[in-house]
Amino acid sequence: MRQQYDRQVKIYNSFSGKKELFKPITPGHVGMYVCGPTVYNQVHLGNCRTFISFDLVFRYLKHLGYNLHYVRNITDVGHLENDTDEGEDKISKKARLEQLEPMEIVQKYTLDFHHILRLFNTVPPSIEPIATGHIIEQIEWIKKLIKKGLAYDIDGSVYFDVKTYNIEYDYGALSRRKINELIVQTRPLEGQEGKRNPQDFALWKRAAPEHIMRWPSPWGEGFPGWHLECTAMSVKYLGDTFDIHGGGIDLKFPHHECELAQAQGVYGKPPVHYWMHANMLTLNGQKMSKSTGNVLLPESLFSGMNDFLEKAFHPSIVRFFILQAHYRNVLDFSNNAIVAAERGYYRLMDAFESLAELSAGTISAFDVVAWHQKCYKAMNDDFNSPVLIAQLFEAVRYIDALCKGDAQLTATDLDLLKLTMHNFIFEVLGLESVKREYPKMPNCPQALIQLLIALRDQARHEKNWALSDQIRDELARLGIQLQDGKGSITFELIQC
Ligand code: AMP
Ligand code: ZN
Repeated sequence: MRQQYDRQVKIYNSFSGKKELFKPITPGHVGMYVCGPTVYNQVHLGNCRTFISFDLVFRYLKHLGYNLHYVRNITDVGHLENDTDEGEDKISKKARLEQLEPMEIVQKYTLDFHHILRLFNTVPPSIEPIATGHIIEQIEWIKKLIKKGLAYDIDGSVYFDVKTYNIEYDYGALSRRKINELIVQTRPLEGQEGKRNPQDFALWKRAAPEHIMRWPSPWGEGFPGWHLECTAMSVKYLGDTFDIHGGGIDLKFPHHECELAQAQGVYGKPPVHYWMHANMLTLNGQKMSKSTGNVLLPESLFSGMNDFLEKAFHPSIVRFFILQAHYRNVLDFSNNAIVAAERGYYRLMDAFESLAELSAGTISAFDVVAWHQKCYKAMNDDFNSPVLIAQLFEAVRYIDALCKGDAQLTATDLDLLKLTMHNFIFEVLGLESVKREYPKMPNCPQALIQLLIALRDQARHEKNWALSDQIRDELARLGIQLQDGKGSITFELIQC
């Protein structure tokens, strides 16, 4: 078969701000680290966009024949509220609110994360290290940083010393921030008196007496900083320099800047060759975010149980919607956009299916080799999935003409068309064939559930506990779990 394509991938390196030719450290092998979720809540569609973006990177490099080591962690400690050094640990806080153990929270939301990513047909990473499983490594990192004069301990906490680091290096090089100016200008912040400078960040935090997640260390009982865990785990599994580090663009600063400083401080060289940042998914023009509550949960899209959309959508269609945008562009979610994506998705799949029926002719009406090369060209250009999808629709037009008998392809060209369509639709984009009758159940009866919630509310108001419990228990039996919150009752679908 005449497969002739260029394997020269260009990656937009966030560090240089340029597209660069991808040259792996070891020819044929790729080490890729992607920051995983902080498992204190259900994963939302925005988080999924980032993980799907890197799934595309993984799938395409694999398709090109690279042997990948793909590491994506689970953050189960040390990520404090508002990404600062002073807030409450997100997992401890959720455990307090849900009256569960922190590790129960971690288990619950790790399972949810895996379940959702499986529905999106993402390939699991080769290694999925967990932060609390690497406390010893993190303590060793802190010792090394102290030895280098780049960290200091105060009152049971250890901080990275940005000013000293900046004598030799440039904290802010990745996110292009002028930290030296900031150091001079910033007044010390409240609650950060222990730090020499407000820019210094925690490597280890002393645990308050009520803090459950605590480990012994040379500096007393405490817990590691969020930034350090990714450095410890990436280097442990991929080495002191590796090819690709990815994450959402909101992690560029401070998280990735700190990772870079920690590793460079110890090894004297940058740890990562290509920094990749995926852009945000927005809802109503605002970043989808757990902390503001501006979120859409994937399950609610798949079941149709949300106030936002007119119907349910299969995960593969949501995936197609996400991949229609380039990973570095902001993508806004809307009913119209997902409905349009669904239409396009079925058109593509129908065309692919009709390919099986076609028989070859004697001459080719289309230059299939040139088209096939354009598909690779699109993906080689910083994983440009929208341009690839436009090429796949170009092929849909060829297929329409072939089906109508207006044009022909030789057997070799027809085989190349089939193989290329198959590879890009299923292997690279990771789409799945979806039956049109999805969802199998009729539109989920959200209004009926709301009505039952209102009736139960009324029963509670009238202190008719028996009726109120009956409604709650019967709904639970049907897989609809009511959650009593402050002044409002919501529900979660545990099976549909
Ligand atoms: P977190 O669990 O908050 O650490 O986030 C997990 C991943 O999701 C990180 O790579 C974030 O950058 C990414 N992320 C968070 N919000 C969004 C969003 N609205 N759109 C795309 N990615 C996001
Ligand atoms: Zn990370």
